[in-house]
Amino acid sequence: MKFFDTRALKRGADRIRSTPQLWLTIFVAIAIFGSFLYIANRFTGIARDAQDRLVNVRVGSLQDAFAPLAALFINDTPQLRAYMQDIAGKNPTIAEFLVITQTPNGWTIKTTLDERSIGSTLLGYDFLLSLAVADPSNSFTVEELGNGERFFRTARAVTDSEDKVIAVLLTRQTLSEADRQIAASIQSSFGILVVILLLLLVLFFHHARIIDYSELYRRLKEIDQLKDDFVGMVSHELRSPLTIIRGYIAELVAGVEEGRKSEMLKRIDRSAQTLNLLIADILDVARLEQGRLAFTMNTIDPAPGILGVCEELQKLTLAKGLTLSPHVSPGTEIHIDSERLRQVVMNLVSNAIKYSDTGEITVAGGVDGGRYILRVSDTGIGMSAEDQKQLFGKFYRVQGERVRTEVGTGLGLWITKQLVEGMGGTISVESIKGVGSHFIVSFPLIHKT
Ligand code: ADP
Repeated sequence: MKFFDTRALKRGADRIRSTPQLWLTIFVAIAIFGSFLYIANRFTGIARDAQDRLVNVRVGSLQDAFAPLAALFINDTPQLRAYMQDIAGKNPTIAEFLVITQTPNGWTIKTTLDERSIGSTLLGYDFLLSLAVADPSNSFTVEELGNGERFFRTARAVTDSEDKVIAVLLTRQTLSEADRQIAASIQSSFGILVVILLLLLVLFFHHARIIDYSELYRRLKEIDQLKDDFVGMVSHELRSPLTIIRGYIAELVAGVEEGRKSEMLKRIDRSAQTLNLLIADILDVARLEQGRLAFTMNTIDPAPGILGVCEELQKLTLAKGLTLSPHVSPGTEIHIDSERLRQVVMNLVSNAIKYSDTGEITVAGGVDGGRYILRVSDTGIGMSAEDQKQLFGKFYRVQGERVRTEVGTGLGLWITKQLVEGMGGTISVESIKGVGSHFIVSFPLIHKT
């Protein structure tokens, strides 16, 4: 079973990278999360210290109160023990309660809660006991760890009426209850932290969706504007051939000399052809702009398709007294839509034929500089650097009599560029006015793993 899709993760990361508005949300989310973690940690530390101090003070007070009693009953151990049992019964945190005295054998247990240890020698608390003896008016505490529990070991001297140390009280208090409370509050903090995390995630996705909507709104406005521009341009472009057709028809109806009729009918036919082309191109433009033109991408050798187009156009080339020479090396596969590539080659070679009066058109295809390059070159009318800059814009046609005599819409190169880019390629032009043009289409090669 797959728990997460790495592509979705990558898409998410790309989305975040490309949407700076989301960075602020992420920053705020991390800041809130981090602050809570820091504050929860600080409070836990403070609470633990306060608990420890409280237990310490309690033990100190208990020993302060018990020390005079211990001095009084130091030689009546049964009575002393009865008092100790009474105190321990009321303070369940007391795990051990000893009264010890110094004998030649060391510190010996004079009395304690557990009768069996009375009389045995106590080892291991020399430092704590020496502190208690050195300063009999105070109690001293050290922290101990045992079986995963924390304890406070506290010692206090018992003095007689001449302030001479006659015994030491030694207790062992368990901190497990306090620690359990702290652990419970840490656990509930983590619960809250998880809730905060979930809320932040909801906030994040909500914000992402709002950004989506605002992006969608921006795109819609853009499309609306494009549509307006396009409708304006199209109606203007459609009107020109129609005006020409209607003008000639009006003249024909009014009656013209026989010799002019055929010329006028030819012009009407040319304008009708322009209208036809315009409508076909406009449909392509509309599909491309609305993203409705589907690309069926395949890994194929483009050579046969390119050669097929050249073959189809040979007749037209020869009719104009031009030559068309394809130099296409087969054997390289690229990722393209073969039908769209055919359309691209058809547009470029048709233009080369249309805008050349003499010479040769060459179509070269093959690998060059790590990419697949298709180059359509002609020895035609060429164009200025200024025209080259605007060449791929919608309805752009180079000004001049020579271009005007050719049927055209000025949409072919815009469509060609969209098709090439839609297949992941690029297109550029190199041209010298009066010398010829090169149209260069380039596609990435497929990296075989
Ligand atoms: P059109 O339908 O006018 O041919 P295109 O978009 O295909 O529209 O081309 C736009 C303009 O670019 C043409 O009108 C022409 O002025 C110029 N052009 C295109 N191809 C060539 C070429 N091979 N040589 C010179 N000029 C060209």
